[in-house]
Amino acid sequence: MVPNPDELVADTLRKYAEFVNPGLVKLYRFGGVETVEWEAQGVVVRDVYGREYLDFSGGPAVFALGHRHPRVVQAVVEQIHRMPMSVRAMPRRPEAELAALLAELTPGDLRYCFFCNSGAEAVEGALKLARAATGRKAFVATEGAFHGKTFGALSATGREKYRKPFEPLLPGFRHVPFGDADAMAEVVDRDVAAVIVEPIQGEGGVRVPPDDYLPMVREICDRAGALLIVDEVQTGLGRTGRMFACEHWGVMPDILTLAKALGGGVMPIGAFVARPHLWAAFSDDPYLHSSTFGGNPAACAAGVATLRVLVEEDLPSRAARMGEVLMAGLREVAARHPRWVRDVRGKGLLVGVEFSDPDVALLASAEAIARGVIFFFSLNRPEVVRLAPPLIVERHHVERACAVLDEALQAVAQTLEAAG
Ligand code: PLP
Repeated sequence: MVPNPDELVADTLRKYAEFVNPGLVKLYRFGGVETVEWEAQGVVVRDVYGREYLDFSGGPAVFALGHRHPRVVQAVVEQIHRMPMSVRAMPRRPEAELAALLAELTPGDLRYCFFCNSGAEAVEGALKLARAATGRKAFVATEGAFHGKTFGALSATGREKYRKPFEPLLPGFRHVPFGDADAMAEVVDRDVAAVIVEPIQGEGGVRVPPDDYLPMVREICDRAGALLIVDEVQTGLGRTGRMFACEHWGVMPDILTLAKALGGGVMPIGAFVARPHLWAAFSDDPYLHSSTFGGNPAACAAGVATLRVLVEEDLPSRAARMGEVLMAGLREVAARHPRWVRDVRGKGLLVGVEFSDPDVALLASAEAIARGVIFFFSLNRPEVVRLAPPLIVERHHVERACAVLDEALQAVAQTLEAAG
């Protein structure tokens, strides 16, 4: 397949070390990853040696439709052959179609859409819109939250490690413990433009809040006249067993952010969607907030195809069903390794396996990848491996992933017990 894979791997790692980031090369080597990804289809990724891996990390959460879903690829290829980028002086058909579809699928009266290129950008836009719409300055976010790493999004992100080196961040952010509505009520006052919250914290280690949490946050916002930004960059588009995770609790956001899976694993695209009355400032001056590549035709064509596949194949329901199978399998594995696995939790196909410490999570992931299954730790809680496989995953994939985790943990136990 690849004529000289050893050379290609050595050269790629050398170029990473010299021109991308030597720290990343160390991390790959520590995780036993001395290869290069090469091609992918469905749930399977192949490296340059032709070795196959089941993708149980999914980008993370990018490959809801699996890799290279034929309908998304076809839509993008057609668009690329016609006009991949926009002159931006005329309206674009794919952007209009994607916005209309999103308005139809998103809860409540969410309607106006702004398209960008990543999750962090979607969060930036949502925060700006909240200030413009309310005239207020402050924001409330949650500890352990992950909203991205640009300055505004980072100001909302709740992990010191990522924040500290870049301070001062945007002023006016207050952080409260996730899942604690009383703590939220104490800080949401009439200075607060918006509360920003993930319905389930993804990078925070797949933390599912108590059932009354999101409805109470909605109420707290309403009482103070603050907006509710629900960040569904990771949880959105079927991942948790509903099209949007906030639907589990019947909560309507004022602004919803999306990215990751929206491009069907083929194109990068982000979006924020808002209730119509909030859009006045953006409507009065459509260039108040803008992005050269935002809403580009190729990415929007991917988005349209993705949403159609999600709906027509009812992938949210499939995620709910397969999520049960996956969690049951993982709990059996956990029961065999009580010393190393503390918890298995999640909703739909967003599942966290909490290990006894971050090193065990890293070692288990390294052992798993060596056996052909990709797991990845969560950024804000590295002792938790977050599983977000394609929603098209089948029972035999799930069984294989659980068996590999079991073997990986046996290997970890041997290594750690030998080291004392
Ligand atoms: N918001 C949430 C909930 C996320 O999980 C992420 C990324 O993991 C982001 C925002 C940032 O997205 P991006 O990495 O595309 O900037």
